[in-house]
Amino acid sequence: MNYYSTNGTAPIASLEKAVVKGLAEDKGLYMPERIKPLPQSFFDNIENLSFQEIAYTVADAFFGEDVDAESLKKIVYDTLAFDVPAVKVTDNIYSLELFHGPTLAFKDVGARFMARLLQYFLKKEGKEQVNVLVATSGDTGSAVANGFLGVDGIRVYVLYPKGKVSPIQECQFTTLGQNITAIEVDGVFDDCQALVKSAFMDADLNAHMKLTSANSINVARFLPQSFYYFYAYAQMKKKGLADNLVVCVPSGNFGNICSALFGKRMGLPVKRFIAANNANDIFFKYLQTGEYNPKPSVQTIANAMDVGDPSNFARIYDLYKKSHAAICADISGATYSDEQIAQTIKDVKAKTGYVCDPHGACGYRALDEGLKDGEVGVFLETAHPAKFKDTVDKILGEDIAIPAKLAAFMKGTKQSVPMGKDFESFKAFLLKE
Ligand SMILES: *Cc1c(COP(=O)(O)O)cnc(C)c1O
Repeated sequence: MNYYSTNGTAPIASLEKAVVKGLAEDKGLYMPERIKPLPQSFFDNIENLSFQEIAYTVADAFFGEDVDAESLKKIVYDTLAFDVPAVKVTDNIYSLELFHGPTLAFKDVGARFMARLLQYFLKKEGKEQVNVLVATSGDTGSAVANGFLGVDGIRVYVLYPKGKVSPIQECQFTTLGQNITAIEVDGVFDDCQALVKSAFMDADLNAHMKLTSANSINVARFLPQSFYYFYAYAQMKKKGLADNLVVCVPSGNFGNICSALFGKRMGLPVKRFIAANNANDIFFKYLQTGEYNPKPSVQTIANAMDVGDPSNFARIYDLYKKSHAAICADISGATYSDEQIAQTIKDVKAKTGYVCDPHGACGYRALDEGLKDGEVGVFLETAHPAKFKDTVDKILGEDIAIPAKLAAFMKGTKQSVPMGKDFESFKAFLLKE
């Protein structure tokens, strides 16, 4: 399958080129030329299939032309070595727990898939070192670093904003060593993202080293996220609750919800979607006004969604042929202040016993406020609450338990390279690598 750029002027790319390049030459995001609808028989029987079986069917529709069946199956099955259960929170609200992977956030799915696909292409091609540059507001860095840790022929540079990532998130990519380098940028997430984007456009750097991106813009990261929407549907169908399904996605860079919209194009019978935002409400405003006005991100307690110019908006815009009306027909929005997020975490715990993380809390609240009669909602619990322990403990007045997987990271020694937010220092650093 070929991939075109959302900006429309870059040449068409193969899957391999799209994965290795990440961003197209014209700074657009790659889109698959076709989105293949899955047969009705698949949906008729979906509740009897395992997560891996469902995911392989979806993966085959996107990647089957480019990766042989046996390799693709292995990539999918290795990636999804953990469950994604839909857990009941109230009678009509379920939490899709995406935090059972190695770094306890949904980004494990895309990152693990991409690492394996990239390795597949490197092996096919012979050896040339690939350098992965990734900007993170917290969870991407840990998922990518752990997804790629120890993978031969790949070096990973994780750029993160100094002081704006929780200590628990930070240790998940600063303590690994091996082929992982953490870079602590004196700026905000958008500065990190700008450095990565500039690096891809820089001729000297590209002549010096082979660069690729592992941000949610990479097709190998964002397409696999569609897997768990199908599995969520399957689980809800099994419970007899899938007829009027509303899926709510806590959104920052909009990669996650974008993959859900791809799922819908493939026939996934979800009635409508809600994009839940924190105070960074650029998409919410777009839905209301039809105007997309990026602005600098503001810091919130749901920090993985502190994005002022969501990259994947370009993909959603392209998918819906720039039609504001068509976008509004499938997606509604919500935006919450830190106070509202905190209140929601408290209320959900008191009412149901369930502990949401700050991102999932936005998702829960948007369903609680927005579900209509007869609808059942699933929100994505995008990370484990213990990843935001300081925040959640303070809100609940409790000492929530840290899962063993997470505690193991905290024992390591932090190693990172301090960096200014100007591109010249970053470039000079990379040229010496
Ligand atoms: C990355 C992240 C988000 C936002 O996902 P996008 O795909 O960028 O919209 C939400 N919650 C958590 C916990 C995350 O790590």
